Amino acid sequence: MSDDAPVLQLADITRSYVTPAGRLPVLEGVNLRVAAGEIVGLVAPSGAGKSTLLHIAGLLDRPDRGTVRIAGMACEKLDDRKRTGIRRAKIGFVYQFHHLLAEFSAIENAAMPLLIAGVARDQAMQRAQQLLDTLGVGARAAHRPAEMSGGEQQRVAIARAFANRPGLLLADEPTGNLDQETAGRVFDALLTLSENEKLAALIVTHNHELAARMDRVIHLENRTIAA
Ligand code: ADP
Repeated sequence: MSDDAPVLQLADITRSYVTPAGRLPVLEGVNLRVAAGEIVGLVAPSGAGKSTLLHIAGLLDRPDRGTVRIAGMACEKLDDRKRTGIRRAKIGFVYQFHHLLAEFSAIENAAMPLLIAGVARDQAMQRAQQLLDTLGVGARAAHRPAEMSGGEQQRVAIARAFANRPGLLLADEPTGNLDQETAGRVFDALLTLSENEKLAALIVTHNHELAARMDRVIHLENRTIAA
């Protein structure tokens, strides 16, 4: 590990799927570096390979070729147990749908990664409450997901992604399921938190207005990232 290395570094990533109709190449020679404190937007049409790229960057999938480094550590040859450990400790995910656990309150959902990591309950709850406060849903801490609006649920999912202070945030259309006004407000909260916590963020979005507010926007076209 090195403090100077980008938090996320993809080099020459190539991935294809084997389908009944033959081999489907999705990514070819993708290179990408995201540094700490940098918020990068990833824009591409549906089917271009954005989810495939996020899954590879998040150690949920392996490339056919190329290297994935998280905080300087090459991950492609590690076994699944080590990759899961790195994923839990260093990567936060936000999806289009919140995937909160229905039987747990907002604060319990947000604290879940810390509780799973063995952090003391008081400490985990304190961190979760701080995150919910920053995201403007502190007053909803005791509510279950079904008792919250879509925008509030997504803020809780964002709090959960930040809970264990990951160095890297990967978000797949985090506001894609919200109306435009709510999307703008939730996105503001996500950007503020990313800046406060100085993590590296790679955020997939279809929304060019939101993309324009990030530090840098990259486009996935013809199976690679346009230079
Ligand atoms: P995006 O997130 O940009 O919509 P994806 O990464 O989900 O794109 O998919 C890229 C391409 O790969 C699409 O043509 C999709 O149909 C195909 N694809 C995705 N996952 C699989 C899979 N497991 N098996 C076969 N084809 C897949």
